[in-house]
Amino acid sequence: MTNPEPIIVSDQKNLTVTQACALIESQTKSISCINKIDIRSALGRYIAKDIHSNINVPSHTNSAMDGYAINGDDIVSNSDTKLTVVCTVLAGQPYDGKIEKGQCARIMTGGMMPEGTDTIIMQEDVERTNDIISIQSCHRKGQNVRQAGEDLAIGQVALRKGQKIMPAELGVIASLGLSEIKVHRRLRVAFFSTGDELRSIGEALGDGDIYDSNRYSLYGMLSRLDVDILDMGVIADRKEDIESAFQTAADNADVVITSGGVSVGEADFVKETLDKLGEIKFWKIAMKPGRPLAFGKIKNAFFFGLPGNPVAVMVTFYQFVQRAILMMAGAEAKPRLQFQLPSSEAFKKTPGRTIFMRGVISNNKNGEPTVRSTGQQGSGILNSMSQANCFIILAHDDGPVHKGDIVTVEPFEGFI
Ligand code: AMP
Ligand code: MG
Repeated sequence: MTNPEPIIVSDQKNLTVTQACALIESQTKSISCINKIDIRSALGRYIAKDIHSNINVPSHTNSAMDGYAINGDDIVSNSDTKLTVVCTVLAGQPYDGKIEKGQCARIMTGGMMPEGTDTIIMQEDVERTNDIISIQSCHRKGQNVRQAGEDLAIGQVALRKGQKIMPAELGVIASLGLSEIKVHRRLRVAFFSTGDELRSIGEALGDGDIYDSNRYSLYGMLSRLDVDILDMGVIADRKEDIESAFQTAADNADVVITSGGVSVGEADFVKETLDKLGEIKFWKIAMKPGRPLAFGKIKNAFFFGLPGNPVAVMVTFYQFVQRAILMMAGAEAKPRLQFQLPSSEAFKKTPGRTIFMRGVISNNKNGEPTVRSTGQQGSGILNSMSQANCFIILAHDDGPVHKGDIVTVEPFEGFI
């Protein structure tokens, strides 16, 4: 259970989460470089220009069933209809001739409707004796037929600019017969951790040392976004080292992310360095965890100075950085996947900042979904992220939550 400290409202520099999101969104736009690439390699990338259908899909009107193609006007209303089978049509093997009144064609699924037919009777509904079929009067003209262009009509927008290419989109592109498509080039993202106490995996821990976990959670979150990753390791809390790491990162990446060293402690040089080398947009947000956060620019690279605490890194990444990266990568803006659920416990909260608790959505004994917290909510308790399946978001102006109150949840599944 969380126990938020009372909010200090005197700090005028605090931005709300909503203001910070809006500010970041107003500054970032998609990169202009566009590549034409093979469709398979496009999986996970963002479409750079609307794709119009150059053909009808399907290209011909065809049968949706194995059965018989007939002219619907031949169906007699009050008794059975008898028709003569004059040909067999297989998928990919159309019939050149015309089906006359009183005739029909044996046809398989996907077979092109022969001239003179507009209706399919499935084979289970037909009685056949030699070349004569008998059908009942209950069938409707036009049934079981797939019209040319009913999936995608020629000229229509098949895929929108900014849509992510997922398995279905690959199939749609292939159905148009396109071998290459235009996508935004991959973003390059450089990141490093700052802190004298940080050791990398494989190194021994000295007194007061900890292993650097942020680079790994960042690696994981970035990998899911299909960006090129430049992991610059751990940088010590020395001004010169941080400065040169900033320069290298900005020269090699579109986005630079750091963790740690962003508050006002004696060894916190990130904000100062950003001020010196680039442009800082803000550095405090009324949220928990994640209050100190720097956003700015060094040369052409966007810069995110995330807090050091491992949970704060993940919260701020998901709330701010992910969205900015997606926008820069050319993704269309999508609303956040959030919904409302009753809380199975009470939470202390004072108005004045947004709280991102780690929550677990599950069904109660009546099968109704509810949400609870993962327990201890300290910003260093990374285990809480691993146990959780959602954030419980207590909004800026909200007060305490009582058991049974409705709260906003943001499932982790929405984070890609
Ligand atoms: P800082 O913002 O640098 O003062 O760091 C805040 C807290 O987060 C400190 O307890 C740090 O030891 C911890 N921390 C900073 N960076 C990392 C990291 N990369 N991995 C794990 N913990 C970190
Ligand atoms: Mg530090």
